[in-house]
Amino acid sequence: MLSHILRKGVLSSNSSTLIRRYASTNGQETVLVVLYEGGEAGKKNKNILGCVENALGLREWIKENKLDSRLKLVVTSDKQGENSLAEKTLPEASVVISQPFWPCYLDQTRIDKAKKLKLAITAGVGSDHVNLEAACKRGITVAEVSGSNVVSVAEHVVMQILALVRNFIPAYKQVVNGEWDIAKIADKAYDLENKHVGTVAAGRIGLRVLQRLKPFDVHLHYYDKFRLDKSIEKELNVTYHSSVESLAKVCDVVTINCPLHPETEHMFDKKMLSLMKKGSYIVNTARGKIMDRDALVDAIKSNHIEGYAGDVWYPQPAAKDHPWRSMPRHAMTPHYSGTTLDAQARYAAGVREILGNWLNERPQREEYLIVDKGKVVSRAYTEGDATKGHSEKK
Ligand code: NAP
Repeated sequence: MLSHILRKGVLSSNSSTLIRRYASTNGQETVLVVLYEGGEAGKKNKNILGCVENALGLREWIKENKLDSRLKLVVTSDKQGENSLAEKTLPEASVVISQPFWPCYLDQTRIDKAKKLKLAITAGVGSDHVNLEAACKRGITVAEVSGSNVVSVAEHVVMQILALVRNFIPAYKQVVNGEWDIAKIADKAYDLENKHVGTVAAGRIGLRVLQRLKPFDVHLHYYDKFRLDKSIEKELNVTYHSSVESLAKVCDVVTINCPLHPETEHMFDKKMLSLMKKGSYIVNTARGKIMDRDALVDAIKSNHIEGYAGDVWYPQPAAKDHPWRSMPRHAMTPHYSGTTLDAQARYAAGVREILGNWLNERPQREEYLIVDKGKVVSRAYTEGDATKGHSEKK
């Protein structure tokens, strides 16, 4: 039970692995930090720690800890193309800090270019933007702030399930457009009560989604590679499925909460979507590439899938003409579920902790490590490159 809580929860573990620091030639390590632009909001609100302007609190942390002579910080949102600041800084970077909301895709080409790279930190959860296979081969440590935003995402999932099932978006649009057509909205509005809702993966987020949905009196289902403790299954009255297919066939709502890695890339392809119940809904806050982009559009347009929501796209930021932006009956948002102000405080603190440990050759928390000493050490991932390079558009 304790090991289960350690894995699925946010608790720290003392048995950890050591990340060794390799001093650069001039004694100063370059830390490349790729974040989104804060704009006016970021300038005004210092709590938006995940933006370039506030840089995860790293500038203040470096000052307070008198680390100026040891760390050179390059903070930028400029990550696209050969001439971007991120690309130009890579050859000298010992550490790359990036975030799922504005990922610096570390594909094979970039890893080859980043000859001094020792540590890739995800400011948040989900390290699929790093080619884990290449990181293993090069001995690059990949760490993320596990658990930092899992409640934030679980709440977003519940919100989006309700938005779809209750037909909230068209109803809201009517108000804004000065309309009042109740029948048109009621035509596709249901109660969530008594519906079958299933999660693909019951890790930190998936489990929290199940817990939050229980009071809605729904029939809960899950699929995961490993089963939850019997006591948890009983408490939640949740049905286990030994395959995604089995879960997809019986659920009115499927929520996807597994990492993107070779096993899950395009898991929801044409075939899987065709197995889902006609009129069912999908909420995916895990990763865009778990869906086959065009197969989803077809399934929505043919009315087989009633609605789709989530906040994850591939690649990110989503192109202006990404087909999910304009497909019918969606409730998509930009990738922000895991970057609430509460979550930002937690993942920024986690990033500083990981960087500080690395700098001082202290052990990292075990649950933060995805790749260590040439191996994938997180049970939730497998080796490989699920993003296949940042230029691929699907
Ligand atoms: P987690 O605690 O590591 O849970 C991941 C779960 O996925 C584990 O239970 C794992 O199984 C399961 N899994 C792995 N491969 C699977 C497969 N092939 N089929 C079924 N289940 C599989 O991670 P988490 O904190 O819940 O986060 C999950 C994912 O959500 C992240 O990796 C990230 O992609 C996404 N996320 C999104 C946001 C956002 O802002 N939208 C924020 C945070 C995270 P076992 O461990 O049992 O092997």
